[in-house]
Amino acid sequence: MTQTRRRFLTTTAAAIGITTFLPFIARAAGMAGDVFPSKGGDIVVHPVNHASFVMETPVGTIYCDPVGDVSLYADFPRPDLILVTHHHGDHYKPETLAGLVGDNTIIITNPTVLDKLPDDLKAKTSSIANGEATTFNGLSIDAIPAYNMTEGREKFHPKGRDNGYVLGFDGFRIYISGDTEDIPDMRALKDIDLAFICMNLPFTMDAKAAASAVSEFKPKFVYPYHYRGRDDGTQDPAEFEKLVGMAAKVKMGNWYS
Ligand code: ZN
Ligand code: ZN
Repeated sequence: MTQTRRRFLTTTAAAIGITTFLPFIARAAGMAGDVFPSKGGDIVVHPVNHASFVMETPVGTIYCDPVGDVSLYADFPRPDLILVTHHHGDHYKPETLAGLVGDNTIIITNPTVLDKLPDDLKAKTSSIANGEATTFNGLSIDAIPAYNMTEGREKFHPKGRDNGYVLGFDGFRIYISGDTEDIPDMRALKDIDLAFICMNLPFTMDAKAAASAVSEFKPKFVYPYHYRGRDDGTQDPAEFEKLVGMAAKVKMGNWYS
């Protein structure tokens, strides 16, 4: 109890400090985003960091894998929906979630994260496993498998545990890969308008495998994200763009600033 309260106070103090000192220009830049029209209205994408991003959409504000200090999200509306792909620290941080959720925020995640959540957050959360689906405010949400298939790397993301997501907006479908390799489940995706594709080694895949998968399922737009890795595992989004060629329009986000 004491520890929880102390952590809460520390987080709050840090958030206030950082927000106060952020220069106006950075805050204004943070509010800009890439706009994708859908039948129901615009979807505005704001890359935040690595695997974390915010989308303002016709069905509400959606945060995906928000981690880091809550001040990173100070410019955005409170989330109506938070999607968490899996429990690794660059995707799931209960302290960040606790600082971000509002009274009406819903969290959707995989069963492993649901198990790990503290009780107050668990009450706002439901889980779907690979192959299952749910809806939020009329938005369809499908849990797509996300896993390693290279020998020796299965331990990072074993098959069947972690989620990617396909979000079905009215006339616009978004795929969020989570941490995965270029699995058949990804290559078989259909009618994706916008994809977020991870790449880094040894945890996910290299730019070449990512580009190969994208060239097969051909989303209209694709963000390379999650591309910094351990040691020399970082992948070059420019190389990815070159390899994708005409198969999709590559969007570059400011994922690491
Ligand atoms: Zn992971
Ligand atoms: Zn990751």
